[in-house]
Amino acid sequence: MRLVVLGGGESGVGTAILGKKKGYDVFVSDFGKIKESYKEVLINNEIAWEEQKHTEALILNADVVMKSPGIPEKSAIVKKLVEKGIPVVSEIEFAAPFTKAVTIGITGSNGKTTTTMLTYHLLKSAGLNVGLAGNIGKSFAWQVAEDSFDSYVLELSSFQLDGIINYKPHIAIITNISPDHLDRYDYNYQNYIDSKFRITMNQTEEDYLIYDADDEAIAEWLKNNKTKAKLIPFSLTKTFSEGAFIKNNKMEVIINKEEFLMETESIALEGKHNMKNAMAATSVAKLMQIRKSTIRESMSNFQGVEHRLEKVLKIQNVQYINDSKATNVNATFFALDSMNSPTVWIVGGVDKGNDYNELMSLVREKVKAIICLGIDNKKIIEAFGNVVDVMVEVNNMNDAVRMGQRLTEKGDTVLLSPACASFDLFENYEDRGNQFKQAVYNL
Ligand code: ADP
Repeated sequence: MRLVVLGGGESGVGTAILGKKKGYDVFVSDFGKIKESYKEVLINNEIAWEEQKHTEALILNADVVMKSPGIPEKSAIVKKLVEKGIPVVSEIEFAAPFTKAVTIGITGSNGKTTTTMLTYHLLKSAGLNVGLAGNIGKSFAWQVAEDSFDSYVLELSSFQLDGIINYKPHIAIITNISPDHLDRYDYNYQNYIDSKFRITMNQTEEDYLIYDADDEAIAEWLKNNKTKAKLIPFSLTKTFSEGAFIKNNKMEVIINKEEFLMETESIALEGKHNMKNAMAATSVAKLMQIRKSTIRESMSNFQGVEHRLEKVLKIQNVQYINDSKATNVNATFFALDSMNSPTVWIVGGVDKGNDYNELMSLVREKVKAIICLGIDNKKIIEAFGNVVDVMVEVNNMNDAVRMGQRLTEKGDTVLLSPACASFDLFENYEDRGNQFKQAVYNL
């Protein structure tokens, strides 16, 4: 069997290693350059590869192709493979049959990484032999090749889900759905929604789907479609006989009639969105029969994830918060919602077709000044020009942070929550967040 791997990054190299171990004739092809460290791994494992080209004669003879998530379905080589009827799958699809481990698959538009890390933290603290993979860290296929774990928590993007055929997680989570990445889905929101729900398409009666019951897109899909999985809803506003909710300042999770209660105050993560993430992760922990005391302890000592509402420093009693990962309006909505002091908001970057209307009342209530940092400031100025007293434009992060300091007084907050992509002034959201933190340290 010939396995061709398109893309020589983490998931590509991991898949190649697994394929080789399982006896496939493996070939890795990358249209860009492959990192030196990955080349070394391929050479050491006697795996053939090429870079800066796709040689059709070496690709179109594959029995199966693993496509890395960054490569669009519409790229010329993928189209040719599909025309020839060669299966093109994702890393998860290729690797899952080679492990007996239970997988927990987490998708959604926002909150995937936070919920994945929190779930992993809960299971690991309970002593389970659990791995972490998907969009995070070391490739799933690579870990399967090393036969490392009894269970995995997987962060799954819609691109990874597009490449599944038979894969099913035993426990799936859909954190929420709001428009994102529409350029890869023919600018059709329904296509993107359907892509997220692929996570449950192969699930059976023994599996579980945990989902945000407050989310309109999810409710609509569940009304019109069927899944065999047992449904476990979570909500900030409703209550359930089976599911997770908030009542009298307590998080309540009822699974198989057994109840788990925890004061929301004792949960380390802050903000309404994080209560949702906490309910989803706790539901997994209950399904995996983790002890209540362990859940409580892990929930109260989870450190959060860098660049997601990350508290950087307090200087002269002004709190600086890095939420650089907020690359869409929905994520910023929850950031502003969780502010509890007058806020100077640093916003902007590459606009993704943003509609700022849903932020209007929060901005009115919480934001004392707006600092625009990016190339697409026009829409921000149009939306909020008459809503806040102070609106300034700056060209770099240092100026943004210094301006933030000038516009604040004791007790205020400076929040970087851009609601936009970062590629105008920064390499990526991590670079943007790191520059913010450095600028704050420089103060
Ligand atoms: P993802 O991996 O899906 O991009 P992250 O956990 O990295 O999600 O969070 C991305 C952004 O969304 C951050 O700004 C974070 O504060 C915010 N966020 C986290 N969880 C949620 C949620 N449940 N709903 C909305 N926004 C969220």
